[in-house]
Amino acid sequence: MSTQYVQVAVPVPMRQLFTYQVPSTMQLPTIHVGERIAVPFGSRQVIAVVIALSDECDIGSKKIKNIAQRLNDSFHLSKPLVDFLRLCASYYHHPIGDVFQQALPKLLRQVKKLDIQPPMVWHSHTENKVEQVAKLASKAPKQHALFLLIDKHQGISWPELRTLGYSKTQLNALAAKDLIVEKEQQSKPFIWREQALNEENQQCLSTEQAVIVAAINQSNEQFACHLIDGITGSGKTEVYLQAMEKTLASSQQVLVIVPEIGLTPQTLLRFEQRFNVPICLHHSNLNDSERLDTWLNAQQNSAAIVIGTRSAIFSPLHHLGMIIVDEEHDGSLKQQDSFRYHGRDLAILRAKQLNIPVLLGSATPSFESLQNALSGKYQYHQLHKRAGNSKKAKIALIDVAQQQMEHGLSGTLKQQIKHTLARGEQVLVFLNRRGYAPAINCQECHWIADCQRCDKPYTFHQKQQLLICHHCSSQKRVPKQCPSCGSVRIAPIGQGTEQLEQRIGEFFPEASTVRVDRDSTRKKGELSKILQEISDKKHQLLIGTQMLAKGHHFPDVTLVAVLDGDGALFSFDFRASEQMAQLLIQVAGRAGRASKPGKVLVQTNYPDHPLLQEIVHNGYQHFAKQALIERQQALLPPFSFQALIRAEANYPSYPEKFLRALTEQPLNQCEFAGPVPAAMEKKAGKFRYHLIIQSKSRKHLHQAISQLLSMIPEIEWQSKVRWSLDIDPIDLNW
Ligand code: ADP
Ligand code: ZN
Ligand code: ZN
Repeated sequence: MSTQYVQVAVPVPMRQLFTYQVPSTMQLPTIHVGERIAVPFGSRQVIAVVIALSDECDIGSKKIKNIAQRLNDSFHLSKPLVDFLRLCASYYHHPIGDVFQQALPKLLRQVKKLDIQPPMVWHSHTENKVEQVAKLASKAPKQHALFLLIDKHQGISWPELRTLGYSKTQLNALAAKDLIVEKEQQSKPFIWREQALNEENQQCLSTEQAVIVAAINQSNEQFACHLIDGITGSGKTEVYLQAMEKTLASSQQVLVIVPEIGLTPQTLLRFEQRFNVPICLHHSNLNDSERLDTWLNAQQNSAAIVIGTRSAIFSPLHHLGMIIVDEEHDGSLKQQDSFRYHGRDLAILRAKQLNIPVLLGSATPSFESLQNALSGKYQYHQLHKRAGNSKKAKIALIDVAQQQMEHGLSGTLKQQIKHTLARGEQVLVFLNRRGYAPAINCQECHWIADCQRCDKPYTFHQKQQLLICHHCSSQKRVPKQCPSCGSVRIAPIGQGTEQLEQRIGEFFPEASTVRVDRDSTRKKGELSKILQEISDKKHQLLIGTQMLAKGHHFPDVTLVAVLDGDGALFSFDFRASEQMAQLLIQVAGRAGRASKPGKVLVQTNYPDHPLLQEIVHNGYQHFAKQALIERQQALLPPFSFQALIRAEANYPSYPEKFLRALTEQPLNQCEFAGPVPAAMEKKAGKFRYHLIIQSKSRKHLHQAISQLLSMIPEIEWQSKVRWSLDIDPIDLNW
């Protein structure tokens, strides 16, 4: 047998492939691209993925190592997926082994032999149970709803039910009544059947919606990027559901990427209710074996729909026919550490590679997507009206400079809250600052408790009686005395959601108040419990951070109050106004979703600020078009392309010198901006600097990055700093 070599991606942070020899005893069965194999690396064995095969090798035969073992399982990556991952690595200039890591569930990255149990799923069991089910409907409505879901969806898994907000207790209760049984999942390839569509909850499309679905259907089976720009509640989800019907009906798979599943179980439920096909979830709230189950279901074609957060873009779907990215503007689609990819951009890349359509939806499209739509690169679809008979909420500003404020609430706002509560409707109060107070200080000498590692004030959390740094998570007890002057008059300054909840409860004692932020929902299952209570109208006053701004459907919320509308008005980051506008419109989208009209009140010190004026009077689209003109004049993205190199070290001079050395490199048609200290100059004890490389041409930018990366090993300061590369950065604040 001739000598055979493989080039593999090894899970190490190096921008290269490694070559190994395949001993003749391991050459059969034939090795394929995408196979996982074990190779020796340093003193250990690691799982690597075969990227290429060859009969020749340019490394000296003494140095080359043999692969350690073939795994003889069927958990390989397909050739198109391997090609896609290579493309990802080269686009982001990221170590290829690390990119492949992202595409493999943890259990498949271990050399240890896998003991795979078939996943368990729930089935209903209804023979002679009519009376029992009827009784359930009146006695235990939640159990009844769960039963109906399982009954409709024979073979639904616990992770799905859990994500939809059901509890183990409810499930066990049904099992004890013998209404449901758990069985091993039958892993059959997905094939569309007539009964797979539950027509009864399908909406009759509006003309606007129907036109979009028709356009998407027309472009099926070839690449096209559709931007669906529709105000909140205009029926985008309904468009996705009807557009994907044709794809599913040809037994192809659909991948749906959402920013955060846990926040929007209602959306998930709508997919479940519409299609009686195997749906698999991919998100961070799954354990390792649940993640593996999703991966295998995708890889073995038993999943028809995969719904997941950004990394679901790497799902091994062999018959992928459509990708949908919901809330495409959302910042959480971008990974902000290590491999800094954007889930939306990769969705477009993958769709192009597979020659299939991709749907991007948002009420507040990112400027990148909007510009591509306006220039005709994407198909641009708009939904102007809310679906059904609900009306778009009106936004108004409250000038707080002219008013007496009490705990962050103006008199006008208090009046409006009072009236809304009196009508029996719900109020959402939005404050994007969790904790009790953003700082504590000494009332004698004005000393402020700062985190020494970040040079930023600690946030005070009253319930825990702790100071917590929201930048590095370090904690500290509240000092009894001022360390500077010895005074005991130490008090919180400013207001966070924890305090707001308390104060607002005092203003409106008859109303039940609930808070939704990362602190109040830390406990597993707590968020779905609170959301359920809100929809059951157990609470009238809802207080929340941006967690409450996303996707939820609260039919009885008719007033949304934004306590601090000034947050981003004067930021140095050119994207701040875009993000601020998106946030305001998204929060506003929570008001008046049903038949009752909604109102949004924004408290501000700058009611004449052009950004606020634009949003109130002209809406997001108009604002965005204006802002795009400014971006074009300033040659900022999306009219140019950027890469950001971040560097940090224990001393400020190291990252600065390291980045400055890079700027000595002459670049072709690219410009440097920096090095400059990061907006958060110090974090967790490290000093941080930024260097931006910008170009009008993506090609030149990529060439420049390759050039810079190749010179880094020669820079004197490189061993003293930690650096990272961010292609198309969206957050320049850190
Ligand atoms: P979006 O995703 O744009 O926020 P949804 O698809 O969630 O909008 O639609 C908002 C509400 O309107 C949902 O309750 C949905 O069932 C309903 N809806 C959507 N399309 C229609 C339609 N054509 N006719 C009646 N109701 C509709
Ligand atoms: Zn003091
Ligand atoms: Zn800190």
